[in-house]
Amino acid sequence: MDINKLLAGRTKLMRASEIRELLKWVTEDVISFGGGMPDPSSFPINEIIEVTRDVLTTKGDKALQYGATGGVPELKEELMRFMNKGGIGTLGDHDVIITVGSQEALDLLGRVLIDPGDYIITESPTYLAAIQAFRIYEPRIVGVPMDGEGIIIEELERRIREIREGGGRIKFIYVIPTGQNPTGITMSMERRKALLEVASEYDLLVIEDDPYGYIYFGNDSQPSRLKAMDSEGRVIYMSTFSKIAAPGLRLGWVYATKEIIRWLELAKQSVDLHTSTLNQYIAAELLRRGVIERNIPRIKEIYRTKRDLMLQALSEYMQDGVTWTKPSAGMFIWLSLPDHADTSKLLEIAIKKYRVAYVPGRSFYPNGERGNDMRLNFTYPKPQEIFEGVRRLSLAISEYLREIKP
Ligand code: PMP
Repeated sequence: MDINKLLAGRTKLMRASEIRELLKWVTEDVISFGGGMPDPSSFPINEIIEVTRDVLTTKGDKALQYGATGGVPELKEELMRFMNKGGIGTLGDHDVIITVGSQEALDLLGRVLIDPGDYIITESPTYLAAIQAFRIYEPRIVGVPMDGEGIIIEELERRIREIREGGGRIKFIYVIPTGQNPTGITMSMERRKALLEVASEYDLLVIEDDPYGYIYFGNDSQPSRLKAMDSEGRVIYMSTFSKIAAPGLRLGWVYATKEIIRWLELAKQSVDLHTSTLNQYIAAELLRRGVIERNIPRIKEIYRTKRDLMLQALSEYMQDGVTWTKPSAGMFIWLSLPDHADTSKLLEIAIKKYRVAYVPGRSFYPNGERGNDMRLNFTYPKPQEIFEGVRRLSLAISEYLREIKP
């Protein structure tokens, strides 16, 4: 039977993530900078065991029951307090929805906001799985280039004007202002203010995806969240427990005006009714007991140490003509080869001959415009693997660059 004849049009827009495809190739002897996983030693396992037992003992009846689509009220309240400490004020006309990871929030936002042919704007490059989530709803995705300070505001304005002049409808601007995935870049304060001004001037929604803001490990002070500066209710803020506790909990949240949250709840109802009640009670208790707050400095230290190791290895081993970012947040370093290089082609040499893996950069560009970058994860590999992996990567790059000499 040919299932292809029966697939919906939108199904053909789904593409296997290059990261997942890559994982198939990666055997035990390959050092992988490819994934996007936290260091498992950062998970507060013992505290989670204790909290789970307590939750099941004291409120097992509620924790194992169906719950409200918006989420467990205790968790929503704890999150309000948590965000408050992160500079986001509690606004009367705002609410929270708890999602299955922030990945679900991306899908729900696409579902609620995007009609086929609408324009959405992202940083370029941007989070691959956001592109995939939005793409199903058939928007035209316009990527705006970045520099070391984040999205380039003049380029953003130019594109907004172009789209508007062509009669296009822009639904939102999606940004990851802190420790961006994939580049590791943190948007400067000046750019943040300018972005909000542009959004206000052109009356646009902004989606602020903030998985890494609570584990900022830079030496300088962390720029304010866009949501903390949003006086017009145009920022839809989202974050996740994946980096501050553990991704296996699959818990994320969105904070936005009640009106937006209500639409997201309606959309979520038909997707999965609600997020795991048990996990929500566990997370509420982890926040209430201060487990998460106490664990955050430890996570920052692990990330900072591993980032420093990778930066040190890069400056020791990398050849001239190769450049990379120096992140203050997030889990990734973005490495760029000379313009004529193609990191998808290099990958085969890297994995098969040198036993090292990474994610080629092209798929992070909404329109695939650049192919000479790669994303390196520094949080999952062990310290000795970071050094050895960078050494191998540099050998693979040398061999490849010799092969393609212009
Ligand atoms: N947004 C960004 C920018 C991410 O990097 C990630 C995870 N790597 C997510 C969303 C989704 O994470 P989760 O579903 O685990 O919350």
